[in-house]
Amino acid sequence: MPSSSLSSSSVGKRTFAPPWCFCEVQAVVRYSTTKANPGLPFLGCPKYNTKGLAYCKYFKWADIELQEYANELSRKEEELEKRLFEVEIQVTELRKIVDEFKKREMELVLLERESVLSCAM
Ligand SMILES: [Zn+2]
Repeated sequence: MPSSSLSSSSVGKRTFAPPWCFCEVQAVVRYSTTKANPGLPFLGCPKYNTKGLAYCKYFKWADIELQEYANELSRKEEELEKRLFEVEIQVTELRKIVDEFKKREMELVLLERESVLSCAM
């Protein structure tokens, strides 16, 4: 049985969506050809350098964009860790309550035995 049939779509969407450029088209990744930053990826207008098409001056270094995306992910992770911590505290509290109940139960059992014994005598 293929385990891949288990729904993977419910697992958080982690796909990276490129931002929109000034002419409301999704920016594309290009590679810098300048001497200062050779081969560095950046996001730019997809119409740039296309004959007959007007393009905008949208420009953003791709690593900055990815960094922001990574920051967002780590923020979410921090939030989850905080919640996990809160849940752990609640579990500890609940365990205390359960222990308390067990103690009382034991006490009741002992009391019951005592009363049964005193009646039998
Ligand atoms: Zn554009």
